[in-house]
Amino acid sequence: MIVMKFGGTSVGEPEAIRRVAEIIRSRLSKTPCVVVSAVAKTTDELVSLSDAAAKASRDRANDLIEWILERHIKLIADLDLDGDTVLSQTLSQAAEDLTELRQRFEEAGKVEPMLMDLCLSTGEFLSSHILVSYLNSQGIEAVWADAREAIVTDSRFGSARPLFPESRRLANRLFEPILEEGKVPVMQGFVGADVRGRTTTFGRGGSDYSATFLGALLGASTVEIWTDVVGVLTADPSLVPEAKRIRRMTFEEASELAYFGARVLHPSTLRPAIERGIPVFVLNSMKPGVEGTEITPSLGEDACGEATVKSIAYKEGLTVLNITSTRMLMAYGFLSSIFRIFNQFETPVDLVATSEVSVSVTVDIREKIDQIVSALSEISEVEVQHGKAIVCCVGEDICRKAGMPAQMFGELEGIRITLISQGASRINISFVINESDLSEVVNRLHRKFFSEHIG
Ligand code: ADP
Ligand code: ASP
Ligand code: MG
Repeated sequence: MIVMKFGGTSVGEPEAIRRVAEIIRSRLSKTPCVVVSAVAKTTDELVSLSDAAAKASRDRANDLIEWILERHIKLIADLDLDGDTVLSQTLSQAAEDLTELRQRFEEAGKVEPMLMDLCLSTGEFLSSHILVSYLNSQGIEAVWADAREAIVTDSRFGSARPLFPESRRLANRLFEPILEEGKVPVMQGFVGADVRGRTTTFGRGGSDYSATFLGALLGASTVEIWTDVVGVLTADPSLVPEAKRIRRMTFEEASELAYFGARVLHPSTLRPAIERGIPVFVLNSMKPGVEGTEITPSLGEDACGEATVKSIAYKEGLTVLNITSTRMLMAYGFLSSIFRIFNQFETPVDLVATSEVSVSVTVDIREKIDQIVSALSEISEVEVQHGKAIVCCVGEDICRKAGMPAQMFGELEGIRITLISQGASRINISFVINESDLSEVVNRLHRKFFSEHIG
């Protein structure tokens, strides 16, 4: 059994959905379970809808509802699915839900995370039903499998964490009968429900995580992430157009990349795959014949021997906090008092550098910065620098290779680098720059490490 996940652009147009059906058909002998994202741009529009409704901008909110529904109606018509009564009910249900949510946001006067998750889940509700209907119209027997009946999460709306034992029982109960009948289950990505049955989501891009989590729950042999690029690339192609496909990577390399901003994989995607040792493939739904990237526990005999940079990722929109102890020397307990504050505000820090009396950290959650700075100011002096970015070079053993930092930083003459982290992980060298230098830095490093064809 395999899990196949299709992202937003893979189901964004009628032509794309037709291709997806053929890709699924080509895998029928492997017993696929399908996970699908919302139709491209829908989640962004649902976010805008939540904002508009909470601000009582009723006309704008109604326009967005109409817009979202119209796009799905057009997709259904283009795929000749107008006659499907289940789909008509799905659309009416979505229209009713969104209108009711608009009122509830208006009453709340703010973007309540619980309502937001309900609202965002409508995207995957619609896309998964459309895919089921289209597959059936093409002779591929498919059944809708509601993620809220399979994936139990905690109640952190907007960044829920799935609970394995609770979900395993439910998922097997839901999926087994469908698979036994030889049908293809299609489940919404990105969505789950807490123990009280309230809809939750995994954070933006979370359908990748749904796919690997489902793979772990059902004991899949592989998970395929079908997207709009030919695999994991040596850099973000929107910054480096000549970025190249990486044929094989380790779980560890891919996890670092995902965590440090390579949008192609949600940061938590590899976790369930690592725990269960399930290989993950990243493939292009527009070019299904291309091999893609294979992500496995280790590269074994294929490892090239020499430590080398595999890919360059980045995270932008970061804030650096320079925190200086108000006492002259770094007192015992200073670090723990600082991190207690980040813990209290549930805010992770990415990079940390320390000196005798100061600590610098990077944070990528903007909303809580004021509260964090105010709490830190009670025990220290804090300088806040916005507009920063982390650049992260990833590759097996690059930290052990003599001269690697020299090669890297030698390329960056004239660039202001603030924090550097090397050695915390075997495979990652990261540093902080001004956001305005991002494109220049990533391109210079890419030219340095990938001017010859790789992989
Ligand atoms: P999907 O909707 O299929 O989940 P995403 O937009 O979330 O697709 O992720 C795919 C996008 O990730 C690509 O179009 C590309 O612009 C971006 N991306 C960023 N870094 C990388 C990378 N290192 N390799 C491949 N794609 C990357
Ligand atoms: N639809 C959600 C998003 O746009 C989840 C996903 O696409 O993975 O963030
Ligand atoms: Mg994605």
